[in-house]
Amino acid sequence: MMGPRPVVLSGPSGAGKSTLVKRLMQEYADVFGFSVSHTTRNPRPGEVNGKDYHFVCREEMEKGILADEFIEHAEFSGNLYGTSKKAVEVIRDHNQICILDLDIQGVRSMKRTTLNPLYLSIHPPSIEALEERLRGRKTESEESIQKRLAAARADMEISKEPGIFDAVIINDDLDEAYNKLKDVLSEEIQKVQASKEN
Ligand code: ADP
Ligand code: 5GP
Repeated sequence: MMGPRPVVLSGPSGAGKSTLVKRLMQEYADVFGFSVSHTTRNPRPGEVNGKDYHFVCREEMEKGILADEFIEHAEFSGNLYGTSKKAVEVIRDHNQICILDLDIQGVRSMKRTTLNPLYLSIHPPSIEALEERLRGRKTESEESIQKRLAAARADMEISKEPGIFDAVIINDDLDEAYNKLKDVLSEEIQKVQASKEN
């Protein structure tokens, strides 16, 4: 059973991926399932273990990687992040569209699997706007902000490579970006809705 085609959201940290995913999951609760990644970073205020991430220590995560429990994993800004096989399987079992939030290393790893997702990159309107959002979120240390901005510059260059993303969405006005995202996903949404009506 293949299930619906998964969707990978990538793009700089602070571009608005979680904000867009939360809106999508609110509007289409039954259609989408979020792949809950593992990470060794500390939870931010308001983040819930098992919902936003599975927050684990490095030792536990490395054990899981060695035991082949992960589809992909990467080191980002000094922490490990990874998608477990289980995270994706539970969503497929519910016949939902699996949404994965991955950095660029995760995108490259995913391309070596058989999952065949749609690859979308969410961009901020500018690096200056991104810095403002990261600071406005009040969740990152100065060091973490600088690391994220450096990674963002690299990300935005890489996303220009032909064929790497199916669509790039600029998240300037949130409503516009959300409507664009729904547009890109409309065919897959309709397919899942139709299959659930039967
Ligand atoms: P990501 O998941 O990509 O790291 P977030 O969704 O956490 O990014 O968004 C980063 C910050 O920017 C949050 O404080 C969020 O409320 C804010 N934000 C998201 N989209 C917009 C937008 N279109 N305009 C202004 N602020 C935004
Ligand atoms: P944050 O700490 O801001 O939540 O995430 C930092 C970066 O890690 C973001 O670029 C996000 O897309 C990425 N990320 C989150 N989960 C995973 C994952 O499971 N695998 C990979 N490769 N990247 C992830």
